[in-house]
Amino acid sequence: MFDLKMYINGEWIDSKTKNKRDIYNPATGEVIAQAAEGTVEDAREAIKVAKEAFESGIWSDVPAAERAAYLYKIADKIDENAEELARLETMDNGKPLREARFDMADAANCFRYYAGLITKPEGVTYQVSDPAQALVVKEPVGVCGLIVPWNYPMLMSVWKIAPALAAGNTIVYKPSEVTPVTPTKLFEIIEEVGIPKGVANMVMGPGATVGNEIAESKDVDLVSFTGGTKTGRSIMKAAAGNIKKLSLELGGKSPNIIFADADFEVAVDYALFGIFCGTGQVCAAGSRILVEESIYDKFVDRFVERAKKIKVGPGDDPNTEMGPLVSQEHMEKVLRYIELGKQEGAKLVCGGNRITENGLDKGYFVEPTVFVDVTNDMKIVQDEIFGPVVVIQKFKDEQEAIQLANATDYGLAGAVFTVDGAKALRVIKKVRAGITWINMYHNTYNEAPWGGYKQSGIGRALGTYGLDTYQETKQININLQVEPIRWFSN
Ligand code: NAD
Repeated sequence: MFDLKMYINGEWIDSKTKNKRDIYNPATGEVIAQAAEGTVEDAREAIKVAKEAFESGIWSDVPAAERAAYLYKIADKIDENAEELARLETMDNGKPLREARFDMADAANCFRYYAGLITKPEGVTYQVSDPAQALVVKEPVGVCGLIVPWNYPMLMSVWKIAPALAAGNTIVYKPSEVTPVTPTKLFEIIEEVGIPKGVANMVMGPGATVGNEIAESKDVDLVSFTGGTKTGRSIMKAAAGNIKKLSLELGGKSPNIIFADADFEVAVDYALFGIFCGTGQVCAAGSRILVEESIYDKFVDRFVERAKKIKVGPGDDPNTEMGPLVSQEHMEKVLRYIELGKQEGAKLVCGGNRITENGLDKGYFVEPTVFVDVTNDMKIVQDEIFGPVVVIQKFKDEQEAIQLANATDYGLAGAVFTVDGAKALRVIKKVRAGITWINMYHNTYNEAPWGGYKQSGIGRALGTYGLDTYQETKQININLQVEPIRWFSN
């Protein structure tokens, strides 16, 4: 049983109320940890510390190469402890170990990517009409509030912490109240490598109080949030008070478009991966599969045949291919959507139930679930279910595929499968989404910008764009002939 504390000003502390929250293993329903249940007061303390640390210059004035050295050390420590971290991630989030291992490798590489990037040339000069030298420099934004969800407890944190620290900011970070275990380990590493006290702070607790305080506080200069669209809307409002810089990585209902000329088995394979990887709890999940009518029946048959064979079980079982949902509450939400789909008149052709056999009755396991015969106005087609539930729709031609692909409020991700290169590019360019693939799904790179169109968010994580998010841009104009301007005659 872990006793998890918050990390504020270099100290491990309980919340001012001393309240604790039980943290569950989603595969067994067992309590694995108790986490400090922070309050608004705790958030305020962390923000105050981060503001003082920023203003003191103990981090922003450190040369970029030195900051980078700390980040490289963090990356090395993640690598050294990767197996333990992966096991903890599996225990807390439920994901199969092979997924958790990928996450840890990605997390280490993300720190390395931003360590490298911050030492590279940046800024520009420009020609002006006066005898002056004009240049643009990048500076840290200040105190960054970083709020993350539970689906990638480690990786979503690192996507924010690495660029924010690289750029010289101080941070107040909040993990999801459901999955604070690996975030705590990450902060132990941050402490171990010697990042100065007060630079990186972690508060825990509910979003509505602790998260909202971070979004609202006038002493926080930027809020970077990953989570649901509804929460994103609330954060935008809270952040308006001091016109915070905002980065929002929100939900999705992403289309996966499969043309008749695609390599059939490749398309089926990636379509399965697109929705059932992460038990469908992936923001970019391909939760709407759109298939050209001439191969529709064949595709559904093959997809269902393979979906039924997916091995669902605890993440620490090496045979497991799909783990449980993250919590009882979330499982109940997903099961409600499955019921709703049936009531709306969609045809259930695979799964649809909680799994309780073979010792899985204490965990939050749901079968891979497939609906067909859906219409676009159904809630199961429009809403982000965030579970192993997919709808397969039929389209006649390119135009209808594009129209269906764009017919939701979201715009996070999308994919096209076809061997016709021109058609692939033509169609993907029309898909209103920020993360897209041709003949693949889900592959994610530290180098490439990550973010959504429409109600899937604002701004981009990762790549050079992800560093920009945590930097202000300043113009400096230097007079090369210092003499009066003589605008006024007196
Ligand atoms: P959530 O919005 O419920 O919570 C996310 C975080 O926000 C948590 O730390 C929570 O405590 C906090 N929070 C909740 N209410 C808040 C408030 N009023 N003010 C401030 N903070 C608040 O999301 P979740 O259920 O943890 O995660 C699932 C969602 O995350 C899905 O919608 C998914 O698509 C999205 N997501 C998006 C991306 C992306 O990159 N676009 C990546 C991963 C997950």
